[in-house]
Amino acid sequence: MIFLDNASTTKVLPEVLDVYNKYSTELYFNPSAPYICANNVKKDILQAEKFILKFLHATSDSKVIFTSCATESNNMAILCNLNKRFKKVLLSVGEHSSIYNLSQEIKNRGFEVDFIKLQENGQVDENDLINKMSSEVGLVAIMSVSNETGAINDIEKLVKLVKSVNFDCYFHCDGVQAMCKIDVNLSKWGVDSFTFSGHKICAPKGVAGLIVKKNILPMIIGGGQQNGLRSGTENVAGIMAMTKAIEILSAKNAFAYVKELNSCARKILGEQKGISINSNQENSPYILSISFAGVNGATIVNMMDADGVCLGTGSACTTKKAGNTTLEAMKVSQENIMGSVRMSFCFSNTIEEVQFACNKLIENYVKSGSPLDKAGA
Ligand code: PLP
Repeated sequence: MIFLDNASTTKVLPEVLDVYNKYSTELYFNPSAPYICANNVKKDILQAEKFILKFLHATSDSKVIFTSCATESNNMAILCNLNKRFKKVLLSVGEHSSIYNLSQEIKNRGFEVDFIKLQENGQVDENDLINKMSSEVGLVAIMSVSNETGAINDIEKLVKLVKSVNFDCYFHCDGVQAMCKIDVNLSKWGVDSFTFSGHKICAPKGVAGLIVKKNILPMIIGGGQQNGLRSGTENVAGIMAMTKAIEILSAKNAFAYVKELNSCARKILGEQKGISINSNQENSPYILSISFAGVNGATIVNMMDADGVCLGTGSACTTKKAGNTTLEAMKVSQENIMGSVRMSFCFSNTIEEVQFACNKLIENYVKSGSPLDKAGA
């Protein structure tokens, strides 16, 4: 099987699994328990937090709130920071459903929600942000890297822009597709919070993080773990495994290699009639959005599945988001939105796998009765 849907999840690395097992079987203690072995586990978690904050160049007042998934982190960052002093919230229209779909809940809580447009290259439209930003806006959420297209937003610039209009406006950044893939410098960026998720970076599912600078209101209340910010016994094995994954991935520095995989796919697919690449060259190389004119993306994905290749149709998590708001906002034609497929890479993929997948994509596009075929091309 060839797995090219790494933006939806990734395979756990063996060394990461070793750490997970160690903290599940040998060092399985509850970090809040009163004996030394449990206290040592608590210390390990504090070390892990320190490592993650250093890796992300977070400010000295930052902390990590460990959560169960990025959806929880994003929900917490937004719903626990709605400030009654301000009546408006701005979300980029390209946000993942774990933010985009909060708009109704935000409105139910008495706030106005507006969406920031995207440019045709998939980045946030700065002019639209400038137009919509005012002293009444108390929270802005803009992702670092789009899970649909890999478009990279200039977060540092966008934060400056927002804070120059309202210094007290809270800025949340979903960094799930940025973490361990592009350089992240939270001090430089100036964001108030940042989300990442373990299972996107070769760690197990069920663990994620939210970096915050100030204490925020908890969403889960109980025994007061994590300084009362997120109660519930910590997922020790998950936290330690995720930290190991960050350590390994940061040492690997696979960006250049993944760019080669991406270029290989672009080269094979880019010259085919009816096939268009929706992701710009400057985007994160980890994600490639491809459109097949005149066919349904799901049909292509199913045909590829039968050939042993796993691909995504847009984001796996966006099936609940009506249409594809990201590609729509980029003004991709309806035909190309219908025919969109997402290929996403991991350092463990090979050039041969990408070549095989791309050649199969072309073969299946023709088989599916593509316009290309009908035109006798
Ligand atoms: N944010 C982005 C950008 C994502 O790509 C995803 C998952 O695809 C999520 C949030 C949600 O992550 P999780 O599955 O950890 O809830």
